Amino acid sequence: MIDLASIKKEELESLLSEMGEPRFRAKQIMEWLSRGAKPEEMLNIPKALRTRLAELPFGGAEIIETRRSKKDDTVKMLYELADGNIVEGVLMRYSYGNTLCISTQAGCRMGCAFCASTLNGRVRNLTAGEMLSEVTAVERNFAKDDEKKRVVTNIVMMGCGEPLDNYENTVRFLERATAADGLGISPRNISLSTCGLVPKIYSLIDDAPHVTLCISLHAPNNEIRDKLMPVNHSFRMEELIPAAKHYADVTGRRVIFEYALVDGVNSSEECAAELAEKLRGINCHVNLIPLNSVKERDLNGVTRAYAHTFEGWLNKRHISATVRRELGTDIDGACGQLRNKHAENNANPEAAPTA
Ligand code: SAH
Repeated sequence: MIDLASIKKEELESLLSEMGEPRFRAKQIMEWLSRGAKPEEMLNIPKALRTRLAELPFGGAEIIETRRSKKDDTVKMLYELADGNIVEGVLMRYSYGNTLCISTQAGCRMGCAFCASTLNGRVRNLTAGEMLSEVTAVERNFAKDDEKKRVVTNIVMMGCGEPLDNYENTVRFLERATAADGLGISPRNISLSTCGLVPKIYSLIDDAPHVTLCISLHAPNNEIRDKLMPVNHSFRMEELIPAAKHYADVTGRRVIFEYALVDGVNSSEECAAELAEKLRGINCHVNLIPLNSVKERDLNGVTRAYAHTFEGWLNKRHISATVRRELGTDIDGACGQLRNKHAENNANPEAAPTA
C-alpha cells in the first residue's frame, strides 16, 4: 500500500473513487500534501474523509533534533520516521538560496571505507513520501520572511543511503519533487549523488527528470577505488566513466565528480594527472572535498591548502575543479555522523547530546 505522502494525483483519484468519494477532492488533498499536511490538518476536507485518510500510512518524517552551526548557519537535523528509524538531513545557506541534503535510506549497504552511514549496513529504504516529508518538515519548521517563498530552493540527495539502490522510490520522489502539484522544484536545482550503480545511471535518463548527476568517484583508477569503495568490484571505472559521459551527452547537463581527498591514498599529483586523463572530453566538474575524518575509520583528510594544490593540478590540465565549501564542521556535518551519535547516545544514556 502506497503511503499518502508519496501519492500522485491520478492514484489519489482512483483511491477516492474506490472509497466512494468525489474525485475533485484529489486537487484539494494534493495541495495539502505538497505542504506536508497530515489528514487532520486538511480543513476544507469533510471530517469523515479526513478520518478515513488518517487510517492510511502517511510516510512522514518528523524533525526531532536540530543543531545550528555557530560558524555558518548550517543546520543539521535528525528526522524520525513512523517506525522509529532515524535519518539525517542538513540545511545549508548559500547566496542563491537554501540547499537541503536529504537521506534516501536508513543506513546504507554500499560499504564505502570512509563513510559513517554504512557502518551498520542498510536498515531499510525510504519511501518517496518520506523523502518528500524531509523537505516539507523543513518548510514547516523554519521561519521564512515571505509565506509564499519556499525555504528549500535546492535539494541534494547526499544524506544517508544510496539513492540508486532505492531506485523506484527515488524516481517517484524526483517526479513528485519537480511536479507542479508536488514541490515544484526545478530539476536543475536537484542533485542526485551515486557511488556508481552503472545500469541505474542509464535508466535514470529515461525514468526521471534530468537532474544534476553527481558521481562519487574518489579515485583515479580501479586499484585505489577498489580499496575505498566495494561497489567498484561490481562496476568498474571503464563502465562508470562512459555512463557519466552518456548522461552528460544525452541530458546536456554537466556531471559532477566528487573526489574526497584522503591523505596518502588518492592525493598525489600522479593521481591528479591520471584523473585528468580519465575525465578528458566529458562535460564535467570535479568537486574536491578534504575527507572528513570519521572516528570509526582510520583514514585522514588532507588540509584545505593541500586540496587547493590538487585543484591547481587539475586546472593546469584543463579540468574544471573547485574545493567544496566546508559547512557545519562544528556540528558533525559529514554523512551519517550525527545519526550514529544519536544511536550511541540512546544506547548509553550517560552520554547526553551536547546541543
Ligand atoms: N550514496 C551516495 C550519496 C550519499 S554520500 C553516494 O555515494 O554518492 C554523499 C557524499 O559524501 C558522497 O560523495 C560520499 O562519498 C561522501 N562522503 C561520505 N563520507 C565522507 C567523508 N567522511 N568525507 C567526505 N565525503 C564523504
